[in-house]
Amino acid sequence: MTAHRELRGDVAVLVPAAGLGLRLGPGGPKALRLLGGEPLLVHAVRRLRAAPCVGCVVVAAPVDGVEGVQGLLAAYDVTVVAGGATRQASVAAALAVVPEGFEIVLVHDAARALASAELFERVAGAVRAGHSAVVPVLPVVDTIKQVDADGAVLGTVDRSVLRAVQTPQGFRRDVLEAAHATAVDEHTDDAGMAEKIGVRVYTVDGEEAALKITRPLDLAIAELLLNG
Ligand code: C5P
Repeated sequence: MTAHRELRGDVAVLVPAAGLGLRLGPGGPKALRLLGGEPLLVHAVRRLRAAPCVGCVVVAAPVDGVEGVQGLLAAYDVTVVAGGATRQASVAAALAVVPEGFEIVLVHDAARALASAELFERVAGAVRAGHSAVVPVLPVVDTIKQVDADGAVLGTVDRSVLRAVQTPQGFRRDVLEAAHATAVDEHTDDAGMAEKIGVRVYTVDGEEAALKITRPLDLAIAELLLNG
């Protein structure tokens, strides 16, 4: 299977949405949890579809939820594939069906349901400007301590050099393919895999609205953001 190609944009977006979301409590796959009456995944896809750069969208759905997700996203011209046992496997499954001709690929967690179309444009623009791998970041506001196995503090990390990383993360397609082809360990993001093969990852400004909806409090914050 190959994803459908639309003419309007030259960027493909992969949306891993096959996670169980256990940290959000019981109630089904996280990407299908409701926010303002609609699944997180629908919010995410509607926003990224509004970015003019986007020409192809591939969603990795829970294995037993492919048809359901196709139905949910019928209005948005997306290809839906079955996800894998890990986020990394889900991204790889989506990447495998991106049609030829899309040389910029963004990876976006469905859990970051409120990331704006502007953020997609910013990340894609930085890749187009010549960066092989790009991540949106925010400053770290908490003081960060390193601790040992007993919970004793080993030291305080200088937070001025730390950044919290969001999605969408953007890549030259060949870089993302090489990162996935060579990865041996599990990574929590795709930029980490690119770093492993020696790619220099560049940062652009992230946005607070792109928070990852992981715990019940995040869902409450997202409801507030949605209601302005
Ligand atoms: O588990 P975590 O919050 O890091 O998941 C980030 C994103 O990866 C979520 O959108 C989730 O649906 C997706 N995921 C996936 N396949 C998995 C595990 C997570 O697509 N097996």
